[in-house]
Amino acid sequence: MVTPILLYHHIGTSPTNSQYYITPEEFEKQMQLLRSWGYTSITTSTLINAIHHGADLPPRPIIITFDDGNLDNYTTAFPIMQQYQLVGVLYLVGNYLNAKNFMNIEQAKEMLEAGWEIGSHTMNHYDLLKLTEDQKRIEIAGSRSFLEDEFGLPILTIAYPFGEYDCGIMNAAYSAGYLAGMGLGASSDQHRYDLFALHRFAIKATYDLQRFSQFLPWQGELTIPH
Ligand SMILES: [Zn+2]
Repeated sequence: MVTPILLYHHIGTSPTNSQYYITPEEFEKQMQLLRSWGYTSITTSTLINAIHHGADLPPRPIIITFDDGNLDNYTTAFPIMQQYQLVGVLYLVGNYLNAKNFMNIEQAKEMLEAGWEIGSHTMNHYDLLKLTEDQKRIEIAGSRSFLEDEFGLPILTIAYPFGEYDCGIMNAAYSAGYLAGMGLGASSDQHRYDLFALHRFAIKATYDLQRFSQFLPWQGELTIPH
């Protein structure tokens, strides 16, 4: 199933030249390119449904994800994406919600109402490979029930902090009731057997539009057959 998955953290100007900050100007150019090339943003659960049940995807599907729940996702990315009729998926850290410089629940709910989706990015953003079994349970299963209680809807996917995971962690995510997990990787091809390690491209500040477009499996304008 070909669906590129993009990963962003901050949309804004970095105080420290961090790779994780994409300027609003550059981000807008990227969203504009997706729109003009006929991409349709979908949520992770739409992709899972297509993988499990063979549901049709729209032409040129793409998933646009944001990790950590940074406030600028709401103040900056959200309005730009709305302008281009794109929706995204937020991977929220339970204990970052409502904290300074992070989104609050009301803001995340507003994005949900606009068609966005929410997944878990654990409770505390620890490296899961370095935790005891009890701690892993809190981070993986605990964050799922926490977010489900806060938002009143099922939380179906998880993004592993730092892209760090192994078989034990994928199994724990499966046992906790998730349907998929986000890893990292350089492919747009998402397979059934990779559901707990879906491939995501991390977009970096140094990428120009040409470099960005290399992540896109379909290039140029979509021609409608007649
Ligand atoms: Zn993160």
